[in-house]
Amino acid sequence: MIIRMKADASPEDVEYVIGRVRSLGLKAHVSDDHGQTLIGLLGQLQALNQTALIGLRGVEQVLPLRAPFRLASRELKPGPATISIDGVTIGGTRLVVMAGPCSVESPDQLMQTAWAVKEAGATVLRGGAFKARTSPYTFRGLGEEGLRLLAEARRETGLLIVTEVMSPEQVPLVVRYADILQIGARNMQNFELLDAVGRARRPVLLKRGMMSTIEELLFSAEYVLSHGNSDVILCERGIRTFETYMRNTLDIGAIPLLRELTYLPVIADPSHATGKASLVRAVSRAAIAAGADGLIIEVHPDPASALSDGAQSLTPQQFAAVMEDTRQIAQAVGRAV
Ligand code: PEP
Ligand code: MN
Repeated sequence: MIIRMKADASPEDVEYVIGRVRSLGLKAHVSDDHGQTLIGLLGQLQALNQTALIGLRGVEQVLPLRAPFRLASRELKPGPATISIDGVTIGGTRLVVMAGPCSVESPDQLMQTAWAVKEAGATVLRGGAFKARTSPYTFRGLGEEGLRLLAEARRETGLLIVTEVMSPEQVPLVVRYADILQIGARNMQNFELLDAVGRARRPVLLKRGMMSTIEELLFSAEYVLSHGNSDVILCERGIRTFETYMRNTLDIGAIPLLRELTYLPVIADPSHATGKASLVRAVSRAAIAAGADGLIIEVHPDPASALSDGAQSLTPQQFAAVMEDTRQIAQAVGRAV
């Protein structure tokens, strides 16, 4: 349930209503919708007598929330939300492109990639320092050394950094280096990790689990939001289907559907969705045309020698071509890069 306050409600009116909500044993989640205060009611609502709230001073409406995910719902905040980080806005008219290697491998590999993706128009550098790998015998990342290299790349290029955090214990460390905390597909339902990044004061890139429904993705976002961290970016990165020629199947419809259900920004990951470099360009075009707020793409100076995900990594030249297409499609759908 949501209480929409009148545009001219005073701060005292808002405080009084919040006090009443709390006295009913409920939590109040306060947000702003173009100058009007919205108070989301969280807790056991079954026995609530709405009329006790409708009559309070400053209250315009008391609305039922239909969506089971409450804080992520468009019913709570019509949105779309924008997230601003050091001059980069995610979720606005401008698309955001995050690009970089799957794994941070060496100073040279990272710096070459960082300058190349910046030159082509990316504003966020991706790169894994802690890698969630299917086999324990494969490269699992450079750890803190990888984070240090990302910070160095940030200092030199001015790109923002997005990197994965895999456990609650790692959050304080990764927060020291990253502008955006990535929750990988395999950890989308690691609820203690979601709680931990919810408490961290950093935007979160939440990737859809490879076997997760859209509702499960939104409930995972809800974990982060419920700790007061409202900066959540959702990522459609493909789900597992019966298809085997591609690594995953991009759920293209999830993009416009998420935009209907939630005000949170939605980006697409055509690299993990397809697993094939040759498909990334076309699938990127499709994602932008479907309304994505941006892309996250794997780029490597020499994909054949990449320590992880080489088959889906683009060369800097291929990435520049994707950026060019992205500009054109963006224009066609009223966006810009
Ligand atoms: C990645 O971004 O390199 C990654 C492991 O992605 P996902 O969690 O979507 O598989
Ligand atoms: Mn990868």
